[in-house]
Amino acid sequence: QEKVNRIRAQNRINVHGCDIPDPVCTFEELLSEYRLNPRVLQNLRDAGLSSPTPIQMQAMPLMMHGRELLACAPTGSGKTLAFCLPLLAQLQQPANQGFRGVIISPTRELASQTYRELLRLSEGVWFRVHIIDKASLAAKKYGPQSNKKYDILVSTPNRLIFLLKQDPPAVDLSSVEWLIVDESDKLFEDGKTGFREQLATIFLACSGPKVRRAFFSATCTADVEQWCRLNLDNLVSVNIGHRNT
Ligand code: ADP
Ligand code: ADP
Ligand code: MG
Repeated sequence: QEKVNRIRAQNRINVHGCDIPDPVCTFEELLSEYRLNPRVLQNLRDAGLSSPTPIQMQAMPLMMHGRELLACAPTGSGKTLAFCLPLLAQLQQPANQGFRGVIISPTRELASQTYRELLRLSEGVWFRVHIIDKASLAAKKYGPQSNKKYDILVSTPNRLIFLLKQDPPAVDLSSVEWLIVDESDKLFEDGKTGFREQLATIFLACSGPKVRRAFFSATCTADVEQWCRLNLDNLVSVNIGHRNT
């Protein structure tokens, strides 16, 4: 335990919550302890990534243990990988069950960056990652008549809501296991109630028994933190770089 405390202190990892798993110090630990597909690890190495950043060290094992979390770390600190790797590890392999992971990004540009990162990581493993482009095609691709040959959806909230509000809904989220909200500080800031309502609609559509939520953010604003405290189950918060406020 002393060793764990030292690792957290050295990496300026501040955690809040109960029963928090130890941080991981290498990506290899994800293979041995958390059954990450070795091909994903190879893809990481090919991309020149050799060891996890502080947010990755702590957020990854938390998500692997299925814990709901709020993770705050500065821009450029590697948050995308911090949620993409555990998502891929938990999904294990492609399956024709419909979307099992949903990632919400504040802008289309960010959504497509995350999309490309997921494609790169899952090369050779062939997870089916999708991003909503044409609404008119979406119903055919993702609606009740589709063959559910897809695993992960990346979208802005507006587009996803648009599909959910079709009658019948043009996308089925009943198999979602992870709902991840990226840049949650941005999403919460502009619409006082706007994003909160959208999030409620999205979460309601994630009607399966296994759904869990993770929020990632550059700054830990009072808005986001309060929402997470009220709405997430057995919340853990992770802050990198400064003491908890
Ligand atoms: P954030 O979302 O926190 O702003 P990103 O996920 O966009 O940060 O990552 C910023 C950059 O850091 C990217 O170019 C990414 O490839 C790189 N990066 C992420 N994780 C690592 C790592 N473990 N080692 C080296 N570089 C990394
Ligand atoms: P965002 O950039 O946040 O995805 P858009 O500017 O694309 O939002 O769309 C604004 C609104 O227009 C959406 O809320 C939706 O009602 C509608 N819309 C237009 N095109 C699409 C599309 N391809 N997919 C989903 N919704 C769309
Ligand atoms: Mg980011």
